[in-house]
Amino acid sequence: MNNIVAIVGRPNVGKSTFFNRLIQRREAIVDSVSGVTRDRNYGKSEWNGKEFSVIDTGGYIKGSDDIFEGEIRRQVELAIDEADVIIFVVDVEEGITPMDEEVAKLLRKITKPILLAVNKVDNAMREKDAYEFYNLGLGEYYTIAGMSGSGTGELLDALADLLPEPEEKDENVEALPRFAVVGRPNAGKSSFINALIGEDRYIVTDIAGTTRDAIDTTYNRFGFEFNLVDTAGIRRKAKVKEDLEFYSVMRSVRAIEHSDICILMIDATRGFEGQDQSIFWLAEKNRKGVVILVNKWDLVEKDTMSTRDYEKKIREELQPFTDVPILFVSALTKQRLLKALETAVQVFENRKQRIATSKLNELMLPIIENYPPPALKGKYVKIKFCMQLPTPTPQFVFFCNLPQYVKEPYKRYIENKLRENFDFSGVPIDIYFRQK
Ligand code: GDP
Ligand code: GDP
Repeated sequence: MNNIVAIVGRPNVGKSTFFNRLIQRREAIVDSVSGVTRDRNYGKSEWNGKEFSVIDTGGYIKGSDDIFEGEIRRQVELAIDEADVIIFVVDVEEGITPMDEEVAKLLRKITKPILLAVNKVDNAMREKDAYEFYNLGLGEYYTIAGMSGSGTGELLDALADLLPEPEEKDENVEALPRFAVVGRPNAGKSSFINALIGEDRYIVTDIAGTTRDAIDTTYNRFGFEFNLVDTAGIRRKAKVKEDLEFYSVMRSVRAIEHSDICILMIDATRGFEGQDQSIFWLAEKNRKGVVILVNKWDLVEKDTMSTRDYEKKIREELQPFTDVPILFVSALTKQRLLKALETAVQVFENRKQRIATSKLNELMLPIIENYPPPALKGKYVKIKFCMQLPTPTPQFVFFCNLPQYVKEPYKRYIENKLRENFDFSGVPIDIYFRQK
């Protein structure tokens, strides 16, 4: 299920305050593993049983109204393209500004659901001040105070009502791998896809995707059957070719969420940059498998840069999740494209593998006995048993007497041992310690 909710509005109305409130609870869980938050503008949330991704479009720009007016306009247009629901935030303290009117004008033209949130309604007095926002011509509004959370419940109820019921997954169908080819503009994504699948004659079927806009197309190449995730956003191609982080990240969100494996293309002549990292992080956060393709390798002078040096540099950027296949390819000369596909299929297999409980315990218990978690306050942690959970992505639970005493470094140690003994290359793993 990938519903995308975009928060739009001019600077300082309180978008990020509201955004942080929305993702708070989830964030704590998701980020306990990696310990880092790389991107403050994207998060997952859930209300009344409906899950959704939230994008704070304003998080990408900060500053005064006049400088960024064009920027905000483009962001609203992109939100209109990519999101399922748009939350338009305005500020009761300031009242309607010319820029609010500009945004409203764009939003009035579209049919996508819009929720107007009048923020900073901290007290009953301000409820009355909110009336003026009827003049935006967007109908009903919700009065909220992002800071205290007051009024946000009603807004979220309305949001949840707009989102479709979660789908029942049909577990009986042997699912094909779903690949999303992602990366910043000009990395060579279309060239790669064209080189890989050539003409349309390789298309087996067209399946309407589970979301309204995402389409899976099934291909059969080199003996591998797989789905390529295409989204309306990608198909439409950027109207404007802009090399801004915001655009490529936002355009990738739906494709990434809808896929099992992300094929992240980077441009060898540019290296692994902030945008690549954001997209990588998005994939990892969604627990997707990842393969990194360093494309345009034909353009790199091999005596100035070896694959080994290049690979090392990328892995430094991927910290702490470095166990990712990195391949050097050329969509132009078709170098190593088969290998790229093979690797993506392998990562898909890695991601869905299930390790038998007996095998896991046989291997891990002696390792743990040899190097148990360090004692804390004179207390010893005893791990008695472990198992892999029946989840779509690899998750392991270790049962012990004092789970709260097991710290991050030991978790890492366990993860490394799992990776040494089983092939989880390209796949994020979750490890939990629980009381038994
Ligand atoms: P953004 O630029 O739209 O993301 O706005 P921020 O979330 O950074 O908020 C801008 C300012 O408004 C900050 O100083 C916030 O503390 C303040 N603010 C946000 N929500 C509220 C609210 O509900 N009430 C009041 N009084 N101030 C708020
Ligand atoms: P996209 O925006 O990620 O889909 O990138 P495109 O596939 O449109 O490629 C951008 C540009 O890079 C085009 O001019 C391609 O011809 C070029 N390009 C793509 N792959 C390669 C490659 O492997 N080697 C070289 N030399 N050029 C490439």
